[in-house]
Amino acid sequence: MKHISLLGATGSIGIQTLDVIRLHPEQFSLYSMAFGRNVEKAVPLIQEFKPAVIVVQDEDTKQRLSREIDHSRILTGGEGLIEAASADDVDVVVNAVMGSIGLPATLKAIQARKQIAIANKETLVTAGHLVMAEARKYGVELLPVDSEHSAIFQALNGENRKEIEKLIITASGGSFRDKSRDELKGVTVEDALNHPNWSMGAKITIDSASMMNKGLEVIEAHWLFQVPYEQIHVILHRESVIHSMVEYVDRNVIAQLGTPDMKVPIQYALTYPSRMDLPITKHLNLEEIATLNFEKMDMDRFPCLRMAYEAGRAGGSMPAVLNAANEEAVQMFLEGRISFLEIESYIEEALERHDKIHNPDLSTIISIDEETRKRVRFHLN
Ligand code: NDP
Ligand code: MG
Repeated sequence: MKHISLLGATGSIGIQTLDVIRLHPEQFSLYSMAFGRNVEKAVPLIQEFKPAVIVVQDEDTKQRLSREIDHSRILTGGEGLIEAASADDVDVVVNAVMGSIGLPATLKAIQARKQIAIANKETLVTAGHLVMAEARKYGVELLPVDSEHSAIFQALNGENRKEIEKLIITASGGSFRDKSRDELKGVTVEDALNHPNWSMGAKITIDSASMMNKGLEVIEAHWLFQVPYEQIHVILHRESVIHSMVEYVDRNVIAQLGTPDMKVPIQYALTYPSRMDLPITKHLNLEEIATLNFEKMDMDRFPCLRMAYEAGRAGGSMPAVLNAANEEAVQMFLEGRISFLEIESYIEEALERHDKIHNPDLSTIISIDEETRKRVRFHLN
């Protein structure tokens, strides 16, 4: 039996993780769950899964939740996340919160030698050097939940890293893949939230439309698989059937295919190295799909991807700035305060104004993250 700490239980990944846990009551139990402020969504989940520990974002949410349910251990904030993720009774932490808020809890869970199933890509983008160094030090394996990284992880199958020629990450292209730069000027939040292949949380859906999601995934892949940026390629593949590939030096290319359903990589991260039935997900029907298309990725059309490569290659504090500026700009777009194309110009400006710091420690990263967010917000005040 694996005891799970689920951070971000009410989100898109969180709910699908609970779907997987529900399927296999002999294998998994929910020890703790964390969410932000969505009490309404959380209450039935708490009643069903009866976690020993609950974490919410703030005191106000704790008060609201306490009026709905009777529970003796409701913790709050970043300290609560750390406690829930590193408790003795936890075997696996599923980090599915949105944003760099997941970083300190991930580091503490690694130090407590928990297995980590990581969906929260912002953590690896912001501080990949710290997370990977701790993982090595404590002998902890990070199991990717992101579908592209799960695909690469499976295609690598423990292979010698020196034999990798390149990683090929596929991109569906998001909601605006057929729009020109000119047509992007007037797009609305509603248009952007309408992803053709995947149903996901709001922030990552916007990131998919701007191609920043792919940029974050390139940086995530660099850290998870320790492969230089020159060897990480992105290709447009609109069907989202091949989730990514590895080409080896001997020209063998290994791809992972599957139905575009996040429960597949979530379950694999939880059962690894074994596999289990997943009856709630459709089989891949290649006869129905019939054709797979591939196109070259255009860096001028998708400047967010270009900026992510540049920030990744520059290293140090640059990816943390890229991520914080993006999180804040996307939030402002979702609030209807800036236009879609302004997201990229805010990020560009934040990167230009920042003086790179080499090898930043955790407190430096946290202050850069806060400062960048303020700068981006400041444009409006
Ligand atoms: P959602 O926005 O759907 O969910 C985010 C979750 O985090 C919610 O449970 C939310 O709670 C919780 N949360 C937010 N702030 C806090 C906080 N301060 N303390 C505790 N919990 C908090 O996001 P997704 O599920 O879409 O994405 C989660 C992560 O997984 C992201 O890093 C994303 O990039 C990655 N990912 C997602 C994929 C997907 O298909 N959705 C695919 C691949 C990666 P509340 O509901 O109360 O706000
Ligand atoms: Mg992905």
